[in-house]
Amino acid sequence: MRHYHRIGKSGSPLFGKGAWLPDWERRKFGTEMIDEAQKHGATDLITEFYKGFGRKIEEEQWPRLTEFVGRCHERGIKVWVYTQMCSLYYETFGAEVEDWESWTAKNRDGSTRNFGKAYFRCAPCLNSPGYAAYMTNLITDGAAAIGFDGVHLDNAYYEHCWCPRCADLFRKYLASAAILKRSSGFRFRGMSSPLLFHQRVPRDSIRSRSSGSTSAWMSGSDF
Ligand SMILES: [Zn+2]
Repeated sequence: MRHYHRIGKSGSPLFGKGAWLPDWERRKFGTEMIDEAQKHGATDLITEFYKGFGRKIEEEQWPRLTEFVGRCHERGIKVWVYTQMCSLYYETFGAEVEDWESWTAKNRDGSTRNFGKAYFRCAPCLNSPGYAAYMTNLITDGAAAIGFDGVHLDNAYYEHCWCPRCADLFRKYLASAAILKRSSGFRFRGMSSPLLFHQRVPRDSIRSRSSGSTSAWMSGSDF
């Protein structure tokens, strides 16, 4: 519900403004809904768990989720939980994680990437060890506390990221002997190229006429 309120008119107005929303919120964890779903043959249900607002805020829901999972298990129904992987509501997430900006994905110009067109949501860098550890702990602790049976990782895709961490990883990738031979024509003895450790992101203007490792950098393609 917090998600629908925040996205406002960009989401479904009914979810953002409906006067019936509090009743719906209560009903979605109630036994009536579970029994109705089972009557229609449901064996697994998916409910909310994490939407990117930050753990401290979303943990408020854990007691209700624990009760819900218990009711489902009593009826032999398994519960999966929705977990958002690629969107951070930094307005609240940032209050919890001091170094949150270093966890975000960057555009080619170094600016922080948004999730879609929403200025109030940003995309994480999936190569960030801090973000990976945060999500691992969140899911591990949530499973232990709530007892859910599975996790639905939504938006678990990788869009190319130009942060210093990813740039460095990509230089190492380019510098492998096998990649070099195919892409740039450079040949070196051994398995790495000191030259490419210093490569920089090319200017946009040379994108159309570049080739080899340069075009791979610009497009982010796996060549
Ligand atoms: Zn990155």
